[in-house]
Amino acid sequence: MSKIDYDLRKIRGVVFDVDGVLSPTVVPLGDDGVPRRMANVRDGYAIKLAVKKGLEIAIISGGEGDGLAERFRILGVKDVYLKAGMKKELLEEWMNRHGLKADQVAYVGDDVPDRDCMESVGLSVSPADGAADVMMIARYISPCKGGYGVARDLIEEILKAQSLWPVTDVACG
Ligand SMILES: [Mg+2]
Repeated sequence: MSKIDYDLRKIRGVVFDVDGVLSPTVVPLGDDGVPRRMANVRDGYAIKLAVKKGLEIAIISGGEGDGLAERFRILGVKDVYLKAGMKKELLEEWMNRHGLKADQVAYVGDDVPDRDCMESVGLSVSPADGAADVMMIARYISPCKGGYGVARDLIEEILKAQSLWPVTDVACG
């Protein structure tokens, strides 16, 4: 039984915002005035595994940067939208292209620009420290803060519900 109140067996696609979701809201500020990002390696493992197991994964972020694009390329994510203005239009285009219906998609966002997307999918997810406006409409609020395992938490639940999470066969003791 999953802690998420949703039939996770239906989920075929998962979309992530980056800042405040895969990277924390508070990050070091570079001398150039541009905030840096952080990456969670367990999120990375889960995203890579999800791609391998056949889930459609997309990144839709208002942010930009070569490092960001490279990070997701390494993880095997093909659909990466950076400098995204109208996130909902990109989401709909992506869903159409992959033949995904709303109830087959989860969207993880943390702030106002994500609200439209969250209202367009079956499973809307917020980090534990999402903006109040987002937490209010999220179907699932992860116990993890942005950058601290939200993707891992969600993907692990989805893959477990679909019997696709690796099971260790080793007996303890
Ligand atoms: Mg964000």
